[in-house]
Formats: sequence, C-alpha cells, structure tokens
Amino acid sequence: MNYSSTRGGLPVSAAQAIVRGLGEGGGLFVPEAFPQVPMNEIADMATMSYVQRAVCVLKRYLTDFTDEQLFDMASQAYARFDTEAVAPLHELKDQVEILELWHGPTLAFKDVALTLLPHLMTASARATGEEREILILVATSGDTGKAALSGFQDVPGTGCAVFYPKGGVSEAQRLQMVTQRGENTHVIAVRGNFDDAQTGVKLIFSDQKAAAKLNEKGVVLSSANSINWGRLVPQIVYYFSAYADMLAAGKIKAGDEVNFCVPTGNFGNILAAHYAAKMGLPVGKLICASNENNVLTDFIRTGVYDRRREFHLTTSPSMDILISSNLERMLYELCGRDCVRVSEWMNALKEQGIYEIDETSKEMLSSLMYGGWASREACAQEIDRVWNEEKYLIDPHTAVAMSVMRAYREETGDMRPCVVASTASPYKFGRAVADALHQNTDADDFELCARLTKLTGVKTPEAISELPSLPVRHKRDCAPEDMFAELMLEMNF
Ligand SMILES: *Cc1c(COP(=O)(O)O)cnc(C)c1O
Repeated sequence: MNYSSTRGGLPVSAAQAIVRGLGEGGGLFVPEAFPQVPMNEIADMATMSYVQRAVCVLKRYLTDFTDEQLFDMASQAYARFDTEAVAPLHELKDQVEILELWHGPTLAFKDVALTLLPHLMTASARATGEEREILILVATSGDTGKAALSGFQDVPGTGCAVFYPKGGVSEAQRLQMVTQRGENTHVIAVRGNFDDAQTGVKLIFSDQKAAAKLNEKGVVLSSANSINWGRLVPQIVYYFSAYADMLAAGKIKAGDEVNFCVPTGNFGNILAAHYAAKMGLPVGKLICASNENNVLTDFIRTGVYDRRREFHLTTSPSMDILISSNLERMLYELCGRDCVRVSEWMNALKEQGIYEIDETSKEMLSSLMYGGWASREACAQEIDRVWNEEKYLIDPHTAVAMSVMRAYREETGDMRPCVVASTASPYKFGRAVADALHQNTDADDFELCARLTKLTGVKTPEAISELPSLPVRHKRDCAPEDMFAELMLEMNF
C-alpha cells in the first residue's frame, strides 16, 4: 500500500509516511485506496482478541511489516491497558453503547494510537534506513502531549517534545505532562491557545533552517499528532472492534448499520470512523459533536469553514480547536482526490481564515455526517443526567457527544443503535465533573476527585491520584514565536 499527499507529490510507503509525518507541500498522507474487509471477516472478529482485530486492520495498510511484527507491536502496546478488551463497550438505555477508549496509561483515547506509534516509528525508521534520532514534535490541547510523552519515554533513537497552551489544559492534564519522567522528554508551555501551538509546530516543520540545524545534531523531526498516518490507522481498529462486540453480544446482526457519535477537535477520531466505513464497516450516520468552538458544526451544515470567530475555553479542552487538521483528509475524499482543489482551500484558510467547498462535496458531506454542538451548560446537564439515570460517570468530552447524539435522535428520529466514543476518564476532568454533579468545588482538583469517588463509588485511577506527589520536571514557557528557540535551549543545542 502506498500513500500520497493531499497536496500532491510522489507516493511513499507506509514506513516513509510514518517517519516523515507530514507530506509534501504541508499535505497529509492518505492511503492510495481503501482496502476492503468483507462481512464474513468482520463477523469472524467477534471471537477475536483486540490485538487480533488490530492485526486484521493494520496489515491491510502497513504492508511494510509482517503480520507477526504487527502482532508483536500491538501485543506490547495494548499490554499497557488496564483491560484485555482494550476498548470495551458499556451499554446504556435505548441502544446507546459507550465505547470506552480511556483504559490506557494516560486515561485518554490518544493512548490507543500512542502506545503503538513508538513501535511503528522505530520499525519504520529501520525499514527506511533512517539513522538520525527522531524527535517527535507535538502540539497538544491536553491529552496528546501526555500520551506521546508516555509512549516515547526512553525509547532508544527517539525524543519527544511537547508544546501545550498555558492555561488551556486541565490541572490534571498539566501535571501529567510537567511531571513526565524520561531522559528524552521535553515539555514547554506556550503563552497562547492550542491553535497558536499547532501553528508554531507546523512552522518548525516547514522551516528549512530549523531542519538544517537539527540535522547538524543528527536529529530529524517527525510528528505524533493525528496528522501522522501512524496515529490515525490504529484508531480505525476500535470501530471494527465495537461492531464485532455488538455482534458477539447479539445486539446487531451482520450487516446492520450502526451510527457513531464522536466528540471532535482535530477531526482524527471521526475520520478514522469514516475510513472504517470506506473499508466496508456498516456505518449509518457519523455524528460530529463539538463544544462552543463549533466551527465544524457550521461547516457540515453550510459547507463554509470560517475560523474567524472567538476562541472559547471550555470544560472539554481537548476539543478547543478552530483549525481541525484532519479535515483536510476528508476534503480530499469529498472532492474526488483533487490535490489542487485541496491546496486552494487550505491556502484560503491560511490567508483569509475561510473557504467554501463546492456543492457536490457539500452534499456528500451532509449525507455522511451530522454536525451538532453542546454548550457548557448542556454538557454539565448531560454528565448529571447520565449519572442520575444510568449510574454511569462520563467526562465532559463524552458528555458533549451524548448531548449532541440525543439532539440528533430527536431531530431526525433515527433510532438506530449508536456507539458514542468516550474519549477520556472523568477523573482527568474532576473539577468540571464535580461541578456538573453539583458538588462544592471549593478545593483543588485532586480533592474533588476524592469527593467524586466518595459520591459515585468509582475509584480514582492511580495515574491521577499520584500526580500531586510527583516532582515537577518541566518548567519552561515561551511566546508562540519563540517555540523553536526555546526548544533549542531545552535541548542544549
Ligand atoms: C483529542 C481528544 C478529542 C478530539 O479528538 P480528535 O481526533 O482531535 O477530533 C476528544 N476528546 C478527548 C478527551 C481528546 O483527548
């Protein structure tokens, strides 16, 4: 399987796509075709382990590796999860299934890909003959940073540098990052929002002088953001896995369509669901849920992407994004893989902050996806409602998705079974969750988690409760325009 860039250029192998991260002209790598998984094979997945299901999907895309290699890598990655199911379903009323994606070491769905990516990255470096140290550069809205640091910590031949928006992440998220151990980990706060950090990282990637300077030190950059193909492909697996689990439980029959609702920021997770559909998974509607930063809701409804709007800090910080990078891969499919048109739209976004897609692409998008958003209040109400009615505790990102899913059902009457992606443990966002449950929030985040445990009987994960006692190892901050300079200081270059 080869990969082409959404903005044109020569095709590359899977290993090259993973090592490089970003395609030519700033484009994103996309598979040249979508391999099909026939229904009988999907049905067979019902009796497979998660790792076996992963191999079924990964082997169709990552053709540089053998099935045994992929099995080994996936086994090692998913041994770090607290359940063998890796991504189990939790059943709620009215044919709603919560897909729990936060059983990994950092308690967010990013772990599903970022526990595997270091294995894919080092194997890909070997396969392509890359001998320089690979420095993973990450801009994070909160969860990717920790998951990447944890995944790459002390992995030989790699380093990991994370930029996060100062004041734009939860206290637990911040402490998870600044207490990160490892000789090859770097964490820098940016005095700006996530889009500033992401733009800064993209600028470093396209800066020839920066590349030359790093090359002198024997270092080459790569990415662990969801723009990297190696981040995206492991996310396709759990959509198949959820479907297989529903088959196994007799909740659906082979071929029945299932809706998926995904709390969305950078558009990676929901894009993986769309890719699963392209591979033959019977997907009904994809429900794209946003918070107050609802640029995607407007885009899906009107075909106009307009980032020129106020940026809101919400209780679901990992979705506080106005430039959804992975949408570029969706556009590429919508317009019939026309890299010239994609480049034009992306340039318009960069120069004018707005673009409009053509009528045909617009229609195709709205037939595949429904867009909706939930306010801070609606999100809090949903956390409270789900706890009261179902005795199940959800985090604010999952609550945004639940709220939008219910609005979708009410609006359309489409009551097909719906899988809601649950992207983080509620304990990563203890303050917002405690507040939503009308608890007294006059305490630090960790005391609030303790109160939540008392109220609900759901244990606080150790990865959270240990945070206040860990030493802070990373203290740097910088302005968005100084990110590369600060990184050089941090690395003693
Ligand atoms: C990253 C993240 C999201 C958004 O996922 P995208 O793939 O960027 O759309 C949603 N919820 C949580 C908890 C996240 O960490």
